[in-house]
Formats: sequence, structure tokens, C-alpha cells
Amino acid sequence: MTLANGRSYLAIPGPSAMPDRVLRAMHQAAPNIYEGEIETLAASIVEDLKYVAQGPQAHVAIYISNGHGAWEAANSNMFSRGDTALVLATGRFGLGWADHARSMGVDVEVIDFGLKSAADPVQLEATLRKDTGHKIKAVMVTHIDTATTVRNDIPAMRAAIDAVGHPALLAVDCIASLGCEPFKMQDWGVDIMVAASQKGLMVPPGLGLVWASDKAIAACRDADLRTPYWDWTPRMNPEFVYQYFGGTSPTHHLFGLRESLDMIKEEGLDAIWARHKTLARAVWAAFDTWGAQGDISLNLANDASLRGSSVTAARIGNGGAERLRKWLETQAGVTLGIGLGMAEPGTKEADDFLRVAHMGHVNAHMTLGVLATIEAGLQALDIPHGPGGVAAAAAVVAAHTVA
Ligand SMILES: *Cc1c(COP(=O)(O)O)cnc(C)c1O
Repeated sequence: MTLANGRSYLAIPGPSAMPDRVLRAMHQAAPNIYEGEIETLAASIVEDLKYVAQGPQAHVAIYISNGHGAWEAANSNMFSRGDTALVLATGRFGLGWADHARSMGVDVEVIDFGLKSAADPVQLEATLRKDTGHKIKAVMVTHIDTATTVRNDIPAMRAAIDAVGHPALLAVDCIASLGCEPFKMQDWGVDIMVAASQKGLMVPPGLGLVWASDKAIAACRDADLRTPYWDWTPRMNPEFVYQYFGGTSPTHHLFGLRESLDMIKEEGLDAIWARHKTLARAVWAAFDTWGAQGDISLNLANDASLRGSSVTAARIGNGGAERLRKWLETQAGVTLGIGLGMAEPGTKEADDFLRVAHMGHVNAHMTLGVLATIEAGLQALDIPHGPGGVAAAAAVVAAHTVA
């Protein structure tokens, strides 16, 4: 007899909440996969993916995969065995992309900026300056690292590469940021970008997405890690529909993505980015207020400029995070994300971390609902916390009022 019945809410960083419009669009018979509607559907999705990435001249490849598949797709098209990659890691996801590349035969150098700071353009510039032979083929960085929730300054990375005149490609993992956080592939000089369907794009997991600039296509023409499935060439230049997808089309994911892209265009990127920013600030205000009198803190407690606006990582000491997560799920129908990469898995410390996602199809009532439920959980579990967290979040939402 808990209070968990009703519509459950998965507030984890992917899969994100799926709009009813997206689910309804998927609820239909499969189309002819050889010709007709599917051809215009695929072509229109490619066009709108360029809009969402703000990369009007980008080439787009769509894979039936999750984000890990998108990593592998980018790696296999970018690199030849023995090439060097420079990874700027700011959490578990940067390190994960590095591991993938290494296990594929790429010589990976990692600059690890730890769990509480962004990639430093000065260090990037210094590292590239030492690479006088231009062995580094690509600089890989995560826009928002979903584990630490650090947001990296992508234009600053481009500027560092350009300051040295180094030919390295700039490759960015936007899986946790696309459709949530401002991103401008073309203006920011990004060469390769990866994303996936189940975060800001609001579609079930199952599509991995890669964008490449003309420069990237030219620089990677001879990459020998390419295999038939991951090769982006036919996907970016299809003569027949099956070439978009290396086989049968992901028909229903395409229906869902078509609908979500329509929703994104209707709202507009500027409004979407502003919505995410305010909802993130509401979450931060609540945690800062609770933390004023208790062992509760944001991972990036001291510098809001480092925080991504799609997901928030926090610490509640003495195993409070794990107890709170369990309480929310069993008593209130809300599932929060686990902490990732913040402590050794399986240790006592690992129970001190959680993440709250606010990405994609989220509005004020969903976010305030999660926060009020967290506050109820803190009370129920006798976890010491400062009063007024929900009120602080409500004030942030109130201030956003649009005429
Ligand atoms: C979710 C995520 C991934 C991994 O995506 P999967 O779909 O789980 O394979 C990679 N990078 C970032 C930044 C992510 O948020």
C-alpha cells in the first residue's frame, strides 16, 4: 500500500521520458521498406538531424545501436590501427570512449581532468604543441559527461587546436547534451559528433547517430578500422533505402524520431535550451538548500558554470543516496539514476551518489514533482537536510514566467 501506483517516472539519464506523441507515432504497421514513404521519411530525418546539431553542411549516418555503437561507428570511420587519439576525460563517459578506441587498436592518450573540472584548453594546447609530427589524428571530448555532469567548453577546445595550427579532428560525444544544451556543430568547428536516440531526442534506445564535416570525411577516407556495418560512406550517400541503415530500416524508431524532431522544431532550439537551463537551476537550488544543513552536495557544488543542464549528480553521505533511491522507487514511483564512476562499484562509498536526469520531454511539474518527492524521502528516512529545497526550486520556476 505504497504511494507508487500511478504513472511511474524514470528520472535517469536515458532512456528519458518518451512523449505520448512519439509512442503513438510508433504504434502502426511497418511501411514498405524498399520504396515510397520510407525514402522521404529517412531523407527528412537526416535534414532535421542537421538542424538539431546546427550542422547544416554535416553528413549524417544513422545506426541501429545505442550510444556505445555510435562511439564504435565514429572510431571505426576516424581511425586506422596505430593512429593516435587524444581523449580529454571528465568522467566515466570520456574514459569509456577512450577504452573503446584503445581496444580497437588506436593508440589512445588520455588527459584525465578528474570528476570535478572541465577539460582545460591550455593543457590541450600544450599537448598539441608537443606533437610536432602531427601524430594525433583526433581530439575526443564529451560535451556533457553524464557521470560527473561536467559540461565542456567545445569552442575553447577548437580554439586551442587552431591556436597550434594542428590538423587534429575535433570529435564530440553529444549523447547527453543534444536537444538539451546549446550546441552548434558548424559555428563551433566540430568535425565529428555522436548522439543516440534515447536522451534529448526522446525516442526509445536503438538509434546511434554520427555527424561528420567535409573535413572529417576527407581526413578519414583511408581509415582502415572500417568494417562493412560501421562504414559511414553508404549511409551518408545512399542510392537505395537499405544503404541508410546497412540493412532493414529501423522502421518504428524512424516513426518515433520523425515525431520527436517535429516536436523539437515546433518548440525551437532556443526555447528547449532555456527550458532545460531553468529546470536544471531548479534542481540545483533544491540540492544547495538541502545541503545547507546536512551531508548533501552537488558534485559540482562550487561552480555552476561547469554544470550541464540535462542531468545533475549529487552526493548524500552515509549511504543516503542509495536509501533515497530505493525509497523513491518503492514508495513514490520515481526512479533516479545511480552514481557512475564516483566511487568503486560495490563499496560503501558508492551508495553515496545519485543522479537526477532532466533531459528531453521534461517540464516544470515533472521536475518539481521529482524534487518534492525527494524532499519527502529525505524526511521519511531522517536524512538531515536544510529546509526549503522545494520552495527554492519553485522560486526558480516562478522566475521563468513567460508572457
Ligand atoms: C548515455 C551515454 C553514452 C552511452 O550510451 P548508451 O546508449 O548507454 O550506449 C555515452 N556517452 C554519453 C555522454 C552518454 O550520456
